[in-house]
Amino acid sequence: MKLQTKRGMLLVFCLLLCVSMLASCLHLTEDDFPFEGESDRTSDVTSGTDAPESTVGGTTGENPPEAETPERETETTTQTPQRETTTPEPETTTPKPETTTPKPETTTPEPETSAPEPETSAPSTDVPVIPVKKIKIYIDQGHNPFSPTHPPSWNTGASNEELGLYEQDLTYEIGILLAELLSKDERFEVRLSRPTPETILGTDNDSALDARINDAAAWGADYFISLHINSYSSASVNGLEVYTAESAGTSYDLGSKILEELIESTGLRSRGMKNGDHLRVLKNAKMPATLVEMGFISNLGDATLLDQSPELFAQGVYNGIIAYFASLQEKTE
Ligand SMILES: [Zn+2]
Repeated sequence: MKLQTKRGMLLVFCLLLCVSMLASCLHLTEDDFPFEGESDRTSDVTSGTDAPESTVGGTTGENPPEAETPERETETTTQTPQRETTTPEPETTTPKPETTTPKPETTTPEPETSAPEPETSAPSTDVPVIPVKKIKIYIDQGHNPFSPTHPPSWNTGASNEELGLYEQDLTYEIGILLAELLSKDERFEVRLSRPTPETILGTDNDSALDARINDAAAWGADYFISLHINSYSSASVNGLEVYTAESAGTSYDLGSKILEELIESTGLRSRGMKNGDHLRVLKNAKMPATLVEMGFISNLGDATLLDQSPELFAQGVYNGIIAYFASLQEKTE
């Protein structure tokens, strides 16, 4: 029974201890409840804004502002590099418009390349006008010069030894002047039998004449005009005359206009149109042909004018050619 009483006493004692401890615990909690609630609320207020900072800098009270500033600095530095990274982006975007600006430059040459197209199209509209076949005029300067390497020379012309004038030299110069006039006119294409003073045609008189008409035919001449200067035993004979193999037709009409304009240009008297069907270059020519005798080298007046004013003769023949084609146009109209 004693053991039971001791155990009972121990249980009672333990129960009392437990009760007292519970009572003390209950007493503390009841007293501290309002203070703990306010502290929790204030800690909630502070931790509400700076919750990560209070948790980080809970141990060091002064470090948090330092940690805040580095964080802010790092934030600002991280933000500024971000801004820096964002600012270079517009810098990279600014060169983009630079790359876009050359694009319109590349687009501007395109209209330039497109601009010549109407230019090419514009002449295409004029093509029917320009491609009109030019009229080929073959100018034969009559005679060969003296050949120093093959004497005696052949097919040389008349001369006036007193004046020191030679037909081949005068006709050569007038032919050159006439070719210059025709070359300036886009309607014509011209070829000379003697492009240089030294040009010698054929190997004798006949071959020299044939070489001229053959060259004209090979070139495709439309008209053949042979330039000569007359000579006669009487020095008083003078004037202009033109030969054709036909008494009518194209050759005659052309020769007539040349005679008229030569009279007008030089003031020399007219000896009229002459029959030239016996002349080799006229009867063998494959195209309309005329032979012009531009005065008499044996006459002082004609020879002096030929020597001093060859351009008047060239202009007269040229004006005759122009007058002839003008008359053709009047007939078509
Ligand atoms: Zn002659």
